[in-house]
Amino acid sequence: MPEASAAPAADKIADIYDRFTSVDVQGSNLHFGYWTDPTADIPVEDATDTLTDLLMAKLDIGPDSHMLDIGCGVGGPAVRIAESTGAQVTGISISGQQVSMANALASTKGVSDRVRFRVEDATRMPFAEETFDAVVAIESMMHMPSRQDVLTSIGRLLRPGGQVVLTDTVQRAPIPAAKQAAVDRFFTSFGSTIVPVEDYIRLLQQSGLWFEEIRDVTEHTIRKAWQVLAQRIVELRPQLEAVYDADMVAAFDPSELLEVPQIGYVVVAARRPTR
Ligand code: SAH
Repeated sequence: MPEASAAPAADKIADIYDRFTSVDVQGSNLHFGYWTDPTADIPVEDATDTLTDLLMAKLDIGPDSHMLDIGCGVGGPAVRIAESTGAQVTGISISGQQVSMANALASTKGVSDRVRFRVEDATRMPFAEETFDAVVAIESMMHMPSRQDVLTSIGRLLRPGGQVVLTDTVQRAPIPAAKQAAVDRFFTSFGSTIVPVEDYIRLLQQSGLWFEEIRDVTEHTIRKAWQVLAQRIVELRPQLEAVYDADMVAAFDPSELLEVPQIGYVVVAARRPTR
């Protein structure tokens, strides 16, 4: 499933996520969690915060910094990072419903003076060059028609020396033919693509970014998250069926992906070169 072949349409993704705001899956985080010990019985709500914290720990930001969150969901990660670091944060999402909820969360948490969310398409970001000290993109790159184009924009929007930290689902090895249909069903239903993990260094280099780290955290993240989600989907079915058609609800169930270890999850860190 090369990224160009299934280029998702932004309006389709906006619609999926607008509807998703009525389904409470795991509070204000719409990302898979990080289980430090994957065998431990840690609630998904804690694991999702742990993933945010792991990414935040890589960022060298403080009260004088301005961070961009690309694909901000309903605001949980951006608000958490702003509370911990004191940074100013701009979050963008293609979903208007999400942006409303995210701004409400910032207000509830008392950080709306420096955490602002707005509807923007990451493929056309209207910010000036060198606006941001850091960029995060947690599980949003998989929705982009071209990761290359978005990474190139990130390279332009960062100040020299500024950092980008993102997470993405990747292909760690060729997917067996018998599993391909299950993989396609899950990812394309969400308007997502996956790329071979080895593509990432080239993507970063061609975006003018300095590669710093690609860490495979599959066993701590999606392996466990998909087990939890497969169970939770049973409880969530009435809520999901109220907003999505039957094919979409079926595609939400990641049970079959538990048997596809070729799909992985990575944390990627890079930096705009200093002058
Ligand atoms: N980062 C959030 C949400 C992840 S879900 C979290 O960790 O909780 C993926 C997010 O990407 C959603 O907010 C979705 O609206 C956003 N997204 C997808 N395509 C986008 C685009 N073209 N421009 C901006 N945001 C986009």
